[in-house]
Amino acid sequence: MSGAPADGDAGATDARELAERLQREALERAAREGIHCLAIPTPFMVGRVNAYLIEDEPLTLVDSGPNSAKALDELEQALAARGHRVEDIELLVITHQHIDHFGLAAILQRRSGAQVAALDEVAPFLAGYGQEAELDDLFAERLMLRHGIPPEVVTVLRAVSAGFRAWGSAVEVTRPLADGSTVELRDRTLRVLHRPGHSPSDTVLVDESRSMMLAADHLIAHISSNPLLARPLGASSETAYDGPRPQALLTYIDSLEKTRAMDLTLVLPGHGRPITDHVALIEERFRLHERRAARMLRLIAAQPRTAHEIALEMWGNVAVTQAYLTLSEVLGHVDLLLRDGTIVEAEREGVVHFTAV
Ligand SMILES: [Zn+2]
Repeated sequence: MSGAPADGDAGATDARELAERLQREALERAAREGIHCLAIPTPFMVGRVNAYLIEDEPLTLVDSGPNSAKALDELEQALAARGHRVEDIELLVITHQHIDHFGLAAILQRRSGAQVAALDEVAPFLAGYGQEAELDDLFAERLMLRHGIPPEVVTVLRAVSAGFRAWGSAVEVTRPLADGSTVELRDRTLRVLHRPGHSPSDTVLVDESRSMMLAADHLIAHISSNPLLARPLGASSETAYDGPRPQALLTYIDSLEKTRAMDLTLVLPGHGRPITDHVALIEERFRLHERRAARMLRLIAAQPRTAHEIALEMWGNVAVTQAYLTLSEVLGHVDLLLRDGTIVEAEREGVVHFTAV
């Protein structure tokens, strides 16, 4: 270790310090408004999940963390640091159908007697979690085979997915929320908005008078929130498969456009740091999707390919270890190209190939 840092390093340090200060100030502002970020551990690649404690009446928790002893232990410690116990929670709001967000909900509900609120459309999924997860896996399996992922890879991924299932747990929604409705607390009103894309059930809570949004995974600063291909809510595996493929990225872009048009000064996401520049972040995401779609168009123009072949060209071995994630990425962008009419899709022997027009 020798020599003075280059100018570029000093600039990078300044930028990082500024970003950290803004992040601290944003969390302090949320805390002054009674909203406290509790980062709960998960076994997933994404790392910790942000639950939010709203110190109001009723005492409210937004998302629970996954169903694990470690998550419960850390949640209890985080609540205790603010002078609360699990038993004090009066309202638990679930933002979407991913197990890192709702896995502990059933245990918290049983111990506290809290009302459990979630978007009305996702309530049957949460209540029937075990069977619903099984249907999701079936849907994913058929989609992967149809798009050229080798059967042995599909088998391994199913086993991995089944192994994670116990981090979720079925929970009864006692207070279904309609899109556009409000949740009234003593000191604030939260507007409930359905913003599907990352998952079919993404729900954000907006405090319009404070220009604040609890966004869960609808918008995350450090990662582009994957629009995962998912079985539509309420569809059996059969009908989900026979119908048109869900267009998760197009749905997601539509949702992001609605959020971009909103006047917000603080967005509190489900993972990572708070967001104070949501318009710039959303525009950056739109540029990323355009670049990716353009790159995929070049690959398809060179020769017709399956979605899995495109994923292999784009990400190499990650397209095998993370086959479903990368398939979702490819199909999302392929949907943009199909919409623009620059490619067409055709099925040969049960596998879909994309060809440039
Ligand atoms: Zn999620």
